[in-house]
Amino acid sequence: MKLYSTNNKSSEVSFKDAVFNSLPQDKGLYMPHFIPVLSDEFIKNLHTYSLQEIAYTVAEALLKDSIPADDLKSIIEDAINFPAPVVALKDGNYVLELFHGPSLAFKDFGARFMSRVMAYFLLEGEKELNVLVATSGDTGGAVALGFLGVPNTQVTILYPKGKVSPIQELQLTTHGQNIRAIEVDGTFDDCQELVKQAFVDDELNERFRLTSANSINIARLIPQTFYYFNAVAQLQLEGKSDIVFSVPSGNFGNIGAGLLAWKLGLPVKQFLAATNVNDTVPVFLAGGEYQPKPSVQTYSNAMDVGNPSNWVRIMDLFNEDAETLRKLVKGYSYTDEQTVDAIKQVFQENGYVVCPHTAIAWLALKDYQSHSSEDNTGVFLSTAHPCKFPEVFPENIASKIEVPMQVKELESRTKQSVSLGIDFEGFKKFLLG
Ligand SMILES: *Cc1c(COP(=O)(O)O)cnc(C)c1O
Repeated sequence: MKLYSTNNKSSEVSFKDAVFNSLPQDKGLYMPHFIPVLSDEFIKNLHTYSLQEIAYTVAEALLKDSIPADDLKSIIEDAINFPAPVVALKDGNYVLELFHGPSLAFKDFGARFMSRVMAYFLLEGEKELNVLVATSGDTGGAVALGFLGVPNTQVTILYPKGKVSPIQELQLTTHGQNIRAIEVDGTFDDCQELVKQAFVDDELNERFRLTSANSINIARLIPQTFYYFNAVAQLQLEGKSDIVFSVPSGNFGNIGAGLLAWKLGLPVKQFLAATNVNDTVPVFLAGGEYQPKPSVQTYSNAMDVGNPSNWVRIMDLFNEDAETLRKLVKGYSYTDEQTVDAIKQVFQENGYVVCPHTAIAWLALKDYQSHSSEDNTGVFLSTAHPCKFPEVFPENIASKIEVPMQVKELESRTKQSVSLGIDFEGFKKFLLG
């Protein structure tokens, strides 16, 4: 697999370099030079394959000889070791549950695959890797668990003090080993700023091999295509077609992977990009200007993004053809009040509890269906387990949320974190230790 930067289409880097660089020097995003179309035979028979078999076929088609077949198989078996079931609701729609991984959010797919790919390349004699990651909540947990115990890697997670949920904090701070957490007395933006400064600091770059684990890494995007194929596989078994995927969106990595799956030949009728009031993309999809703006805080905080970092990649996938993109992807955005009402309504109608991000995708699906007379099979993606956001739910619903085993287990552990301010010198001193 060879990749180019969206800012320089004639550039060419290997998959390995793209994974370790994360971002090209010219600040574009890496994209594959060649996106194959999978055979009709494979697509027609998706239902005969397991999630891991599908993952292998898709990854192999994209990566080609970047990783030998047997090694790629082991990476997938190790990384994608939890299911992504499609669950039928009473209202006729389906929910694609992506929260059965260790951090209880869909980011486990990307983080686990990426960490294993990095570890694989490190085995070839690369220098120890220092992963720096700023998190507003979900990314840190997925990255921590993805890299936990991976040889030759050190992970440093920065999170804003008092601004992540109690479960998220436990997921960041209770591992030890090669994972350490820094509680920053500031906002998520301050955390991100510290990480950015570290990446351009000469002394730190001389001492360490720094890499970022954020969602623009191509090794996080690829594994997110797997569950779209696997969802279609499960719906084939029920004789369903004309699939409409509704995707809760923030940085647009998740829906970006869905669109990549579509390019790879997956039959999808329509994508819905569902956001909270951070509606930069829905405004554009409705025919307006693409105008990034500062993010606004909401209940669906993993989607509080005013300038989605994967958007460039999506435009590139469509050769900047906004018209085609606007046909395939419709945008929707909702307030916190609508989000809470949706949580209640889904619960009343289906006895099913959705997290605030997922509720927004359900709303978009309902809106789409109420304005469309065409046949469709509605699937909304559930990006996180509701127990990660306990403060949003009314008491009668909160008490219905089953807390998974892995969370109960976390509660018995002690928090280990270092407190730092927002000054770069303090952070640098800590890293140089
Ligand atoms: C990260 C996240 C999102 C947003 O996904 P993007 O790929 O950034 O669009 C949505 N929901 C949850 C729960 C998340 O953690």
